[in-house]
Amino acid sequence: MELRVLALYPDQMNIYADRGNILFLQRRCEWRGIGFSCAGAGPGDRVDPAAHDLFYLGGGQDRDQRMVAADMVETKREALASAVDDGAVLLAVCGGYQLLGHSYQLGEERIPGLGLADLETVREPGPRLIGNAAVRADLDDGPRVIAGFENHGGRTHLGGDARPFGEVVKGFGNNGEDGLEGVQRDNLIGTYLHGPLLPKNTWLADRLIALALERRYGAFPELELLDDRMELAAQQCARRAALDA
Ligand code: GLN
Repeated sequence: MELRVLALYPDQMNIYADRGNILFLQRRCEWRGIGFSCAGAGPGDRVDPAAHDLFYLGGGQDRDQRMVAADMVETKREALASAVDDGAVLLAVCGGYQLLGHSYQLGEERIPGLGLADLETVREPGPRLIGNAAVRADLDDGPRVIAGFENHGGRTHLGGDARPFGEVVKGFGNNGEDGLEGVQRDNLIGTYLHGPLLPKNTWLADRLIALALERRYGAFPELELLDDRMELAAQQCARRAALDA
């Protein structure tokens, strides 16, 4: 078995340890004897929806999003939509998450989104939403608390058809108001929780690996348990940082 990852705009959309999330997926595969490959797709590159099973779109500042958005819609939207419809995993973080929606409105400017999830992001007046966060998420295998860190100026509002990734236990989530965090649809997940999201939340990392392998090999794999003492300690620490704040 091989986990086939495609990093979208790895040179533009990669703030806050986004590379670390991919490295963590690689290590968890290697530790189990599962093959791993990672390709990158930058500006102008076309994407083969069947060639990869896990697509990763990291965070970015407004200016990075401005640089990639139109290109992504033009050169990758169709392939990503077809991959997601076909069960591929797509994980998008913060700036990447905002670009999954219809658009990101920055004053007069409208940055186009992929339209893969029913949501809108607006840069409204008010402070940036920054801090440690804890979210109760459920990917149809029981609720878990995800620990992470958020830092965004944009406020995201889910449309009527959208299902959140989770509920905010502590922090701001999508907009600091409705208690919702992120989005999920099929195996697409968007979240404001930045890297190191996956090293701090091994359940999420393994769930994504298993779903991606299921797409390619047909059966949901039973992943070998790993010695996660260090990772679980990191999770506890991140949870405490959020909950005790
Ligand atoms: N530019 C976006 C915002 O500030 C996302 C920033 C990020 O990825 N941290 O809302």
